Amino acid sequence: MVPTIDAFKCDGCSICVQRCPPQIMGLVKGRATILTDLCEECGICAEVCPIGAVRFKLIHHDTTATHDGYQTRPR
Ligand code: SF4
Ligand code: SF4
Repeated sequence: MVPTIDAFKCDGCSICVQRCPPQIMGLVKGRATILTDLCEECGICAEVCPIGAVRFKLIHHDTTATHDGYQTRPR
């Protein structure tokens, strides 16, 4: 579960950037960004953000979904 930044909420204070252990956060156009491929999912960025601009989102997996493209068609 990788964090996401609410770019409309983030004020660019850079606290999370300074506290990210692997140093894979930075500011782009005054907003926090994350190199998500290198994220260790420690959650510190979400803990230290004073305004709640970092969210951890569960990826929704629909276990009932089927993918018709992979189904073999009857002949
Ligand atoms: S979860 Fe941890 S490693 Fe990932 S961006 Fe936040 S502080 Fe950095
Ligand atoms: S701590 Fe929060 S407000 Fe500050 S740069 Fe990070 S995400 Fe933005």
